[in-house]
Amino acid sequence: MTEFLIYSKRCFLVDFFTEATIHVKEQKIQNIYKGYHKIETISFLDYENLIVMPGIIDVHVHINEPGREDWEGFDTATKAAAIGGITTLIEMPLNASPVTTDLKAFKRKQEASKDKLHVNCGFYGGIIPSNKDDIEDLIIEGVFGIKGFLTHSGIDEFPNVSKTDLEAIAPILKKHNIPLLLHCELTDDNVPEVTNQKSYQNYLKSRPQHWESNAIDLAIDIQKRFDIKVHIVHLSASEGIERIKQRQKETNKLTVETCPHYLYFNAEDIPDESPIYKCAPPIRETTNNDALWEYLLDDGFNFLASDHSPAPPERKQLESGNFFKAWGGISGLQFTLPILFSEGKKRGLSTEKLISLLTSKPAEFLGIDYRKGSLQAGFDADITVWDDSQKFQITENAVQHKHKATPYLNETVFGKVIHTFVNGVQVIENSKLKTLQQGKLLLKDK
Ligand SMILES: [Zn+2]
Repeated sequence: MTEFLIYSKRCFLVDFFTEATIHVKEQKIQNIYKGYHKIETISFLDYENLIVMPGIIDVHVHINEPGREDWEGFDTATKAAAIGGITTLIEMPLNASPVTTDLKAFKRKQEASKDKLHVNCGFYGGIIPSNKDDIEDLIIEGVFGIKGFLTHSGIDEFPNVSKTDLEAIAPILKKHNIPLLLHCELTDDNVPEVTNQKSYQNYLKSRPQHWESNAIDLAIDIQKRFDIKVHIVHLSASEGIERIKQRQKETNKLTVETCPHYLYFNAEDIPDESPIYKCAPPIRETTNNDALWEYLLDDGFNFLASDHSPAPPERKQLESGNFFKAWGGISGLQFTLPILFSEGKKRGLSTEKLISLLTSKPAEFLGIDYRKGSLQAGFDADITVWDDSQKFQITENAVQHKHKATPYLNETVFGKVIHTFVNGVQVIENSKLKTLQQGKLLLKDK
């Protein structure tokens, strides 16, 4: 079925809900009609009161293929994405092996994704101390940004960069107008001694707020001096907000995201010996997270992204319970929408605002807002249909990620994805996989 009509009383058109009928033909949205609009010869999908919105765009995902397929892979990650209503994701330059720091590795990664993409997939390249001369090739080949770490990344072949390394590539980023994505933690020795590696409080204190703030200062300095786009990934420390706010008053080239786990969990509730919750920067205390929410409700965050970063149970140290030996990363892209919707309901986040933070705003960041991120005639037919009244429990059975371990397990949430369309094809029907391999490789400006 390559041509059909989707009707709902609640279609999200640009930034409001309205009754509409969407005409999908040959991968695109052909037209949008006001109200209930049947056309005799065309299939009509009547979704009544379900929310019909643009497909979610997740700009921060670690898929780990090639090289670490035992952690996650294109097949499982993009199946989980489709079930979660994500129609486009952008994959990080680590933790695949080789890491995506030169053209050859980037081509290998594209090759590895062949016939395994169930949603659209784009990529970032990486900056490490030794690959300044490779950055322009990566950009020309079509990466959406260049990612770097200011602290150890957890992957030895992806070492962190210094300010000097960033200064060296800033003119190239400026020339191509490509964002620099920074993991903002700047390590120092001003941390308490670790006495118990299985204690969450010990882990939390080992990565203090000032590590993030100091790194943000460095990021802002680079952004300012070179007038380049700088994006702060996964902000966790509320202490960083004020300096970001100040700079954002002067420029739109500084952007910032946060992730569902920082908005949903609080450090006080995380038991010891549970590295399933380990990520870096860490999930902080309630007062901190309240401040993140305040900033979110105040339109501070540019968008939200999952930072899906799974690893096998043994790497997560699920048996030993040792936070310091465990892989730092939260697995959960499948649950971004219900998690944020459920917590957002309690916090006073409107559904309209949430949808924008997951669709049009990330599209704008990627520069694909002329074809994705909203329901408009001529746009790619990436569409998510969900039921905001449906309550369900997240069960192990439902998890499509390669590994079932996720801190979201057993949570009871609202907002179930029912149908997903990728490039005009229904890939999820009644919350189950229907059609595979409909995702496209997405290269910037190609
Ligand atoms: Zn990440």
